[in-house]
Amino acid sequence: MKLTFTDAALDHAGLLRSDPDWIESQLADRKAQAVLFAGGDLAMDEQGAPLIMRAKYAARLPLKSPGLIFLGLLDGAPWFAGAVEKGVAEKGPDFRQSAIHAPPELASTFGRARSLLMWHREHAFCSNCGEKTVGADAGSKRICPSCQTEHFPRVNPSVIMLVHAGDKCVLGRQPNWPEGMYSTLAGFMEPGETVDAACAREVAEEVHLKVTSVEYVTTQPWPFPSQLMIGLMAEVEPGEVVPDDDLEDARWFTRDEVRMLFNSEIARMMPSHFSIARMLIERWLAAGSD
Ligand SMILES: [Zn+2]
Repeated sequence: MKLTFTDAALDHAGLLRSDPDWIESQLADRKAQAVLFAGGDLAMDEQGAPLIMRAKYAARLPLKSPGLIFLGLLDGAPWFAGAVEKGVAEKGPDFRQSAIHAPPELASTFGRARSLLMWHREHAFCSNCGEKTVGADAGSKRICPSCQTEHFPRVNPSVIMLVHAGDKCVLGRQPNWPEGMYSTLAGFMEPGETVDAACAREVAEEVHLKVTSVEYVTTQPWPFPSQLMIGLMAEVEPGEVVPDDDLEDARWFTRDEVRMLFNSEIARMMPSHFSIARMLIERWLAAGSD
């Protein structure tokens, strides 16, 4: 099964979406759908399902700025998204749960919607001059009417790596995680860094080990709110793990110990198709002969 949020069925229609007449025709299309959010979670209909409705009806609801935004075309059907004003609809379960249970193509579409809507919410003001910005091109950018600066939705690349040497790997845990949960190391890339350099720096900072080789595995968009997780296998020189202050613990694990972690209740809460961390760990388990 593909990782959640990686299904690329949605056509963003980048060459068409800046044409207001085309967007109008898409809104009027009988197949046009809108997915609605309440806060950072999907809004819920009376049956407790994600609130999805004909786009032209959604456009009449009280929506937060910038109103309905265009997401793309899914099997030829236009998809839009909007964030309802308070009191318009009930908030559904935590977005992670909604995404875990959604069909893959909808999980990706909902993830794109969430990242874009949260970006709009957090970029109401121009970072150049401080004036209020307005949404443009059906939500694919914002423009400052005062200084004309165009602002585009940003993606924050992060490296996430399974650190290994010989027949052991390193996993860590953060203090706020459920008891007994360990996972891969991860961190944001910094300006001026290659992916390999970011991986080596994060591993050195978090567990004080020296990376000797980096293997790229895959990427996963992560709409919390808008990361791109770059999944890596990082081979290190064997040595003592010294966890950074941010980590509650980090240590070496054998494959048998990792398999025991996966038999826990925590692992069952986080299915393997949802988490790139788990996918990297499973890849390492599968590569072992012990
Ligand atoms: Zn400005």
